[in-house]
Amino acid sequence: MSYEEIRNKLKESKRIVFKFGTNVLRNDFKEISLSRIYTFIEDIALLKKEGKEPIIVTSGAVGLGAKRLNVDSSESMSVKQACAAVGQSRLMSIYEDGFDKYGIITAQILLTEEDFTHRRKYLSLHDTLNTLIGLGTIPVINQNDTVSTEELDFYQDAFEVCFSDNDKLSALVASELDADLLVVLSDIEGLYNDNPKINPDAKKIDVVEKVTDDFEDFTRNALSPVSGGRGGMKTKLSAMKVVTRSGGMAVIANGKTPHIIRRLFDKDETEKLGTIFLPTENLANKKRWIAYATNIQARLVVNDGAKKALSKEFKSLLPIGIIDIEGDCQKGDIVSIVDSQGNEFARGMVNYNCSDCKRIMGHHSDEILGILGYKNYDAVITRDNIALL
Ligand code: GLU
Repeated sequence: MSYEEIRNKLKESKRIVFKFGTNVLRNDFKEISLSRIYTFIEDIALLKKEGKEPIIVTSGAVGLGAKRLNVDSSESMSVKQACAAVGQSRLMSIYEDGFDKYGIITAQILLTEEDFTHRRKYLSLHDTLNTLIGLGTIPVINQNDTVSTEELDFYQDAFEVCFSDNDKLSALVASELDADLLVVLSDIEGLYNDNPKINPDAKKIDVVEKVTDDFEDFTRNALSPVSGGRGGMKTKLSAMKVVTRSGGMAVIANGKTPHIIRRLFDKDETEKLGTIFLPTENLANKKRWIAYATNIQARLVVNDGAKKALSKEFKSLLPIGIIDIEGDCQKGDIVSIVDSQGNEFARGMVNYNCSDCKRIMGHHSDEILGILGYKNYDAVITRDNIALL
């Protein structure tokens, strides 16, 4: 596909998730940049009038709350959570007021990791968001920092939360809603092959066909986090991977460029704005959820034979291939599957709880009944419930 065809495809996107980072919503004095946020609102209102389905994922609650309370939000988790409570209502009132001027109703949605981890909640969120879009509203989403359990990440070894920043949250929302496009607006022009703040010869990459594992090495100097928000280029790259593996397109662009949203969708605009990421595959909905949307509480370490059977032959994970289990899990939980070097290569839903997995690991499936006194499945994880990363 030529660059022009790619841009045209982007412009034709119907369901679009916009993610605004803290830095683009604030001015140099760390106050809300009203001119910028109102320009976003005006441009998005126009797109909506053209028949598009915008969804907003917004940061800025913690930053605005900290400014209002005159405190440093990094002081402690509870101060950060208090800042979010103060800032969120201020932030939302701006979106509500702004869109109201264009006759558009907004709907506030605050999410925690559990809302994705529990499959039933995930499906109910999917239905509610679709209903809100069907009713003509614009959902305005943020992480519910006030009650988020993200800090658990630091306390439990095998524990990994499904998102701790709005980059990943916006990608999960885009993937869950089958969005055509995710637009991440940050304070950088796009993805560079080196850090442009240090190396004046660093070049912006216009199109990324696939986010591969070695991408992080290649761009490592450009990955340092941007101050203010929680995400950096690293979190943005993993967000891009989630969206492009779910069949969507994504773009990272500079939210400080005047009317960036209008220009991205303007038929006559020819400038190569931002970095565009192309869809790579279209994972089935359940596999998207298994691969990216749940908290992880346990890791199964498997031998080389099992790794090959899973990743090359798409087989189930049998107890004989498991060499170690870290953390704790219940039947039905999603666990991480790592190789003997500790590299995670898949995730899957376990058919047995962790203590039973520990008893049967290294054994043939026909020994399960003798060891446990019951047998539900030959496999610890059935192939349909395994998603490769
Ligand atoms: N949810 C946070 C806020 O509204 C921002 C998270 C992030 O920067 O990714 O302040």
